[in-house]
Amino acid sequence: MKHRLKLIARSVWARLVAHTPLGAWTNRRAPRRLTILAGHCVTCDVHNGFLPKDMKIEGGKLRALLERLRRDCDLVTVAEGMRRLASGEAGRSMVALTMDDGYKDNRVALLPLLQDLGAPATIYLETAPLDDGRVNWSHEFFLCLEKTTHEDFVTRYLSHSRDAETRAKLANVLAGGERLTYLLKRVLKYEADPEDRDRSVRAVLESLGGDPAELCRTLYMDWDDARALAETGIELGGHTVHHHVLSTLSPERQRSEVGEGRAAMKAALGFDAVSFAYPFGRAWDWNEHSVAAARDAGFENAVTTHAGTNTARTDPFRLKRLMIDEDADTALIACEARGGFEWLRGFGVDLSE
Ligand SMILES: [Zn+2]
Repeated sequence: MKHRLKLIARSVWARLVAHTPLGAWTNRRAPRRLTILAGHCVTCDVHNGFLPKDMKIEGGKLRALLERLRRDCDLVTVAEGMRRLASGEAGRSMVALTMDDGYKDNRVALLPLLQDLGAPATIYLETAPLDDGRVNWSHEFFLCLEKTTHEDFVTRYLSHSRDAETRAKLANVLAGGERLTYLLKRVLKYEADPEDRDRSVRAVLESLGGDPAELCRTLYMDWDDARALAETGIELGGHTVHHHVLSTLSPERQRSEVGEGRAAMKAALGFDAVSFAYPFGRAWDWNEHSVAAARDAGFENAVTTHAGTNTARTDPFRLKRLMIDEDADTALIACEARGGFEWLRGFGVDLSE
């Protein structure tokens, strides 16, 4: 009940701040802030047609959102936004658009849109697809489900996997019947032995006639794409080598995933990345060792996927972001960017999560 009331209060407040002069008032009174938007793909059937819709935003919707936000805020990269916050200078609040992983559509569909608007962005690169031509298991999993049923996927997976515990869990999920994609993905993401999972999902995809190398070429950018984006002023940040859940790795493996991703970018692009994004980004996906790994690798800031905005007082290695996808509530985003939620936080009221 309490949660439901909070959701109603949040929605009403967001609409007041987004659509009335109250927003101009909170924008002036709340501290200067950097609101960071987090997406993955701009909808582009050729390159990301099979991805779930919570990973995509339609180009027209994104354009309208950015045009609206720039009325109150400067559009910046994360690195530039953090620099301005740290400087302590007065000035307009800021919005940074970020896109995770490094998808092909970021060059094909997002870049023309940004150039048209004269807007920057920060794109976080998972480097294995660019270096090895291999996507991580989750995209192969989604493509398998385009080609067959959940039941058949599990049957085929069980024929390849030697991870007995995961086999039992997957059989259990299947018996449950509902929200199968989410539940299967959760078991594979957090509970399966990673090497056995990667090998088994790939074997299923190949048994269904899928081509992992073709998938990578279609879905992810290559280093030429990355260079072209960097040349237009888009910031490229780190997102590890393989996009593992960092909290499931030892401190040493976290360091190599984070540090080697940054080194791969330096080798291919010739510059040191400043900004970093924890893969998946929820509080249980990263830990103190991940923060230390990001800092020690040389990054200057790191983003999570927890909702909120950022001020000069926010820990640079625990930056908050607002997810954007096809169903994103633009009033909530506008309210955060106009300082509506931050102004309330000043009184100890947090409606944002
Ligand atoms: Zn990611």
